[in-house]
Amino acid sequence: MEEDRIEKLRNGEQVLCEVCKNGYYIPYNTSADKAHNFNCSNESCNNFIHIDPIINIE
Ligand SMILES: [Zn+2]
Repeated sequence: MEEDRIEKLRNGEQVLCEVCKNGYYIPYNTSADKAHNFNCSNESCNNFIHIDPIINIE
């Protein structure tokens, strides 16, 4: 489930790439809790996840 995966990424847990099933998503250019993009660690796979910033509307 997409939300579970995002929560794991935010917590710095390893999430297996669903495309190549060989690499893990790693935060792009920053730490896991701040990253909006996670790239697959497998260099031959260009899959990535983009997370929209969470906006709380009250
Ligand atoms: Zn991959």
